[in-house]
Parts: sequence; structure tokens; C-alpha cells
Amino acid sequence: MSHDCLFCKIAEGTIPANRVWEDELSIAFPDINPQAPTHLLIIPKQHIASLAMADPEHKPLVGHLMAVATEIARAQKLDHGFRVVINTGDHGGQTVHHLHLHLLGGRAMNWPPG
Ligand code: AMP
Ligand code: ZN
Repeated sequence: MSHDCLFCKIAEGTIPANRVWEDELSIAFPDINPQAPTHLLIIPKQHIASLAMADPEHKPLVGHLMAVATEIARAQKLDHGFRVVINTGDHGGQTVHHLHLHLLGGRAMNWPPG
């Protein structure tokens, strides 16, 4: 089921990506336009268009994605901290309409975001 979704194609393997993480529910791969020394995208294999489209039945999956972010951050030794971002909808700045977590680390982040 790809329906012209870039991240579904990456999850299916139709478009190759360097899978730094894979389990039965999710994969993670580098962002093509990195905004920090570590910038990975963590996505569910299942297509969910955005966090706003996640249903109550997806609660365990969304929690799983967060736990994966922590595991990858540990593996990548982001011991000084990291940031997890989920851009959602137009005002959230979402450009790819398949739920994804940005995992950013390796430098100090600023606040507030732009
Ligand atoms: P967002 O703006 O939150 O929807 O984030 C989408 C992210 O996907 C951006 O940071 C892009 O740089 C990234 N991106 C777009 N195409 C690809 C791709 N083919 N492989 C990896 N990352 C991508
Ligand atoms: Zn998709």
C-alpha cells in the first residue's frame, strides 16, 4: 500500500534508505536535509497521515515511536540531550504526510522554534 506516499515507499523498500533502526512497527533513517549533526526520522511502517490523524487505537504505536527515539538517542550517545519534533499540519510545518518523529541531536538547540 504505497498510494504515492514517500515514506510508505521508504518503509516498503521501494525507495532505499539507510535504516539505522528497524523493528516490526517502525524504521528510522537519516533526514535528507539534516538540521543537526544527528537528524533522523522515525516512522511507523503503517501509514498514518499525521499525529492529528492518529486514533486511540494508535496510542501504543505512538508510544512505541517515542521509546524508539530514546533507544536510538542512547545508541547514538546523545548524552547531552536531544530533541524530538513532530510537525503536524500546515501550521506545524508538516511537509511529508506520513507521521514521523524528527530526532535531532549533537548540538544545543534553540527555543522558541521558528
Ligand atoms: P516535515 O517538514 O516535518 O514534514 O519533515 C519532512 C522531512 O522529510 C524534512 O526534514 C525533509 O528533509 C525530509 N525528507 C524529504 N524527503 C526525504 C527523503 N527522500 N529521505 C529522507 N528524508 C526526506
Ligand atoms: Zn505513508
